[in-house]
Amino acid sequence: MPPMSANPPVNWDALVDEAVETLCRFIRVDTSNPPGNERAACDFLGAILTREGIPFTLYDAGDDRVSLRAVLRGDGSKRPFMLLNHTDVVPVQRQYWDRDPFAGEIVDGHIWGRGTLDMKGLGIAQLMAFLTVKRLGVPLARDLVFFAQADEEAGSEFGMRFIVREHPETLEAEYVLNEGGGGTTELFGVERAVYSVAVSEKGPLWLRLVAEGRPGHGSMPHDDNALDRLVRALYKVQTWERPLSVSPVLTEYFSRLKRAGVYKGEATVEGLTEAAASDLRLRALLMDTISVTTAASGIKHNVIPARAEATLDCRLLPGVDPAVFQSAMEAVIDDPKIRIERVHVRSSDANAYDNDFFRTIEDVVHDMVEDAVVVPGMTVGFTDSAELRNRGQISYGFSGGLTKPELMAGVHGNNERISLESFRLNCQMVYEITRRMCVIGS
Ligand SMILES: [Zn+2]
Repeated sequence: MPPMSANPPVNWDALVDEAVETLCRFIRVDTSNPPGNERAACDFLGAILTREGIPFTLYDAGDDRVSLRAVLRGDGSKRPFMLLNHTDVVPVQRQYWDRDPFAGEIVDGHIWGRGTLDMKGLGIAQLMAFLTVKRLGVPLARDLVFFAQADEEAGSEFGMRFIVREHPETLEAEYVLNEGGGGTTELFGVERAVYSVAVSEKGPLWLRLVAEGRPGHGSMPHDDNALDRLVRALYKVQTWERPLSVSPVLTEYFSRLKRAGVYKGEATVEGLTEAAASDLRLRALLMDTISVTTAASGIKHNVIPARAEATLDCRLLPGVDPAVFQSAMEAVIDDPKIRIERVHVRSSDANAYDNDFFRTIEDVVHDMVEDAVVVPGMTVGFTDSAELRNRGQISYGFSGGLTKPELMAGVHGNNERISLESFRLNCQMVYEITRRMCVIGS
């Protein structure tokens, strides 16, 4: 048998054709969460792995909430490398789509469908990298793990959180490649390929404010109206002035972008405060945010309600203690008759990025996209990386695709689609990062 090559040639045209066809079929497996039904996704992925002669294990959290894990064995000289993805997608509002979100069609050079960006596209790019390593017999210095998780979109109770609780040994990995980062063709109005490697993310703190008071007749106002109380509390929350905070990751993010001429302002708190005043995305990166998302009270037009409640979607910067934030909010509301209930919380600190994983991603991007800028970044939403970072692991969000800003609205929105060109680049980068991280002699 000839010695296995560390960098065998890849027939990219054939491989990308196969990847596109696989992604289209994967889109047709409707895994809208709720209910998720990730067993169907695992059946789909499992059939492919079986055909390739790769064994896998299913992790069943009940009610067809299933995750799948497969491993290609390395010589063990390094700790494992994990390709992490989730198979569920957020539900669609079909009436706002121009195409069927679950048809997996190719229209005008784009693959359409729920999950193309978040994150079946990246999941299939990871799967193809995994299969290619196996098919070409790339000699591995470490185990290469492919882990497809359930329930990420609804908080991971039946996916990553279940795995952390019940099967933590399956998560052993020196480095994890997950969703949360990637390339954009334009940033701050400047046309330039910018790739963000997400080394941190904001944490959700979902709160419910509950006011209780005395019911009564609408014709006789009194000062213990639960809805009045809630409105006052919400007003205080909305006018609560909180400072901007530039975390170390973002200091590096903005200074790299400034050096590249992409961010034109000053990378100081003062400069960023000014810029953030007119840029929602920037503001979300620089402060703990609060959105009031629901409010409910009252039974009849002429009855003073005895109860009123509202939900707040707070998103905290990495390193901010949710308990400290919640007591600060309590002090701002300053009303013992407002109860604050905690519905969901998840927080994590930033990963370091002075390591061979980050440098490998940088190198691969620079080799494949001329003039690209690579920055460490922060995901504004949440991902399963938080659970891994809390276990002390390095889990980066990165996708090799280069997405036009206008297509980003498709993530959790309508008309989600990915260009064929961007998907090809994603497949190539994910494979090359995986190969360089895992191959013997790297
Ligand atoms: Zn996602």
